[in-house]
Amino acid sequence: MTARHLSASQVSGLLKAGDIVIPGGDDLPSFSRSGCADHVDRMFEFMHDSDRDGMKLLFSIFNALPGPAVKGILKLTEKEKYLPGPLGAGARMVNIGVKGVVMTLYYSDAAEAGINEVLQWDAKCDDNEPGEGPPEVEAQAPPLTLVAEDASAAERATTLARAGAKALARLSVKERTVYLGSLREIILRRREEIIDRIQADTGKSRSDALMSEIYGVLEALVWLEKRAPKMLADRQQHTPLSMLGKTSWTWYEPLGTVLIISPWNYPFIQALIPIATALLTGNTVVYKPSEHTPLEGLLEDLLAEAQVPPSWVQVVYGDGAAGADCVAQAPDKIFFTGSTRTGRRIAAQAAELLVPVELELGGKDAMIVFADADLERAAAGALWGALTNTGQSCTSVERLYVERPVFEAFKAELVKQARCIVQEVDSDGDADMGSMTTDFQVDIVAAHVEDARAKGAQLLTGAEWDGKSKMIPPIVIDSVSDDMLVAREESFGPLIPLFAFDSEEEVLRRANDSDYGLTASVWSKDLARAKRVTRRLVTGCASINNVMLSEGNPALPFGGIKNSGYGRHKGEHGLHGFCNVKSVLIDKDSNKIEANWYPYTSEKYRLFTELVVALFGKGKLRLLDFARAGMKLEKYSNDAGHKGREGREDK
Ligand code: NAD
Repeated sequence: MTARHLSASQVSGLLKAGDIVIPGGDDLPSFSRSGCADHVDRMFEFMHDSDRDGMKLLFSIFNALPGPAVKGILKLTEKEKYLPGPLGAGARMVNIGVKGVVMTLYYSDAAEAGINEVLQWDAKCDDNEPGEGPPEVEAQAPPLTLVAEDASAAERATTLARAGAKALARLSVKERTVYLGSLREIILRRREEIIDRIQADTGKSRSDALMSEIYGVLEALVWLEKRAPKMLADRQQHTPLSMLGKTSWTWYEPLGTVLIISPWNYPFIQALIPIATALLTGNTVVYKPSEHTPLEGLLEDLLAEAQVPPSWVQVVYGDGAAGADCVAQAPDKIFFTGSTRTGRRIAAQAAELLVPVELELGGKDAMIVFADADLERAAAGALWGALTNTGQSCTSVERLYVERPVFEAFKAELVKQARCIVQEVDSDGDADMGSMTTDFQVDIVAAHVEDARAKGAQLLTGAEWDGKSKMIPPIVIDSVSDDMLVAREESFGPLIPLFAFDSEEEVLRRANDSDYGLTASVWSKDLARAKRVTRRLVTGCASINNVMLSEGNPALPFGGIKNSGYGRHKGEHGLHGFCNVKSVLIDKDSNKIEANWYPYTSEKYRLFTELVVALFGKGKLRLLDFARAGMKLEKYSNDAGHKGREGREDK
């Protein structure tokens, strides 16, 4: 092949490196045999000059070196963590750069699969007359975005993502982490710009955006990069005595294409963590953001900069109907975060298609403060837990139970601290709380406040709110009864309903008397009591002497029970949730006929009974008996298997 941007020797260097990254196998051609390198010119058109020159130099070097040396260099660049400072950064760039070029080119595979959209960009270039120079569109990478004008967007997105699944699955987990590392560095570098976009879509405070969305994503990415390779490695499992000589394994394989649907309250983290988890486990993604906070184009931009090939993540913009269209494509798994109402609909639709669903739904989380807790700290925790993200968190403190002897003192401290909250959609990080994101959620909060007032509750702060403005202040509510909406339904706003309790039993009964079961927190100096109470809470997660913290640790699985959903995200459970956990039992090839195979005979029945009694009975010499019975049975089964069949054939 010839290329406008590369000399013949550079092309051969590219093909050499390409075959090391993608050597081909069973049903897929190697890089050099796929013909995908023919697209290299178009790819180089939209590269930065310095990247292009760097790549050309690398390909020249690769051409001059023997294959094993190139392989050694590429392997070495994966060990960038062990190389000092700039050398490590350089190695990373080489690793990401070469793999990025090779993988992206290889994705012209999609064109062969009859999928024109991935290479819309290619098609437009092809329309150009030779020698006419690159058209305008060449300045852009192939599109990842599909706007759902009709159901065909969901169909195209799923087809594209399915086309990319095979190549992603063939990468090792370690190789996939390179993309995550690159994404992490890009997010860290572009954090202020990302925060601007998050604030523009949500109205949250700048610090909320930094601490919850940016920090949360970076922490999760680091954890995935470091821990996932081990957690996704083939794992040897116990093999029972009766299967002596065999080994048992679990392999963690990709499912294929995962549909991720997210809500509007944390549009960045709710997208990035599941997408990163899916990619790392080898699944391509169709992502449907909330129509209220689409962060339009941001994700595509970040992924493209991290060299994530276009067909690995498709973004479908649109409302609930677009989400339902995506579900109808029968992806290999659905990961849904959102309301209980929508979760039910999706689960019903997916049930018809037998698509597994994970549901991360709403909550009505309880915080329980015992009298021995440090009241100032507990009040500060309650305030943050109830108000962070303006109360629009699934794990917000929505019910605050305080033991009666300290109820009045705690209430006074809480009100004092609540009056110090600074509310603004700020640009410098100086505000505690931003605004609400959507008008319809403001209406729900207003209805809850109205209901509480009508039933006799008192607003200790925030009584001045007009019931319409998105800048809802902290509203501490006293004299709340268990039948009020603020006690039963998810408010998803900055409301803090207070309840006094007299005993452990009482508070457990009231805290568990909820349709939801997401998280909770228990505050007490007496750790034994805190643990005892926590064990009896009917929730998926809990924190002791802290608030919303169980979800802050990426090593801990996150999820709820009851109307808060099912399945677990994050942690090892979460990783395995995105996998086909394949159980494999390995035996040696031999001429042995197993005891449980045919023929069944009365003699085998007798010997098998001896073995069962020895193995599961209580005799002191049971292991000896088991070994004796096992040997007799094995010999008999083997002889009968070989000879007995012959005998039966004669009949
Ligand atoms: P929502 O259910 O209205 O929407 C969530 C997403 O589902 C959106 O992208 C929406 O377009 C899509 N959707 C709506 N109808 C659909 C359908 N029929 N088929 C497919 N997709 C459909 O939720 P929301 O108002 O965006 O988010 C707030 C809710 O999310 C709250 O209840 C909150 O507690 C919950 N939430 C839960 C968690 C968690 O991890 N448990 C995290 C954040 C938010």
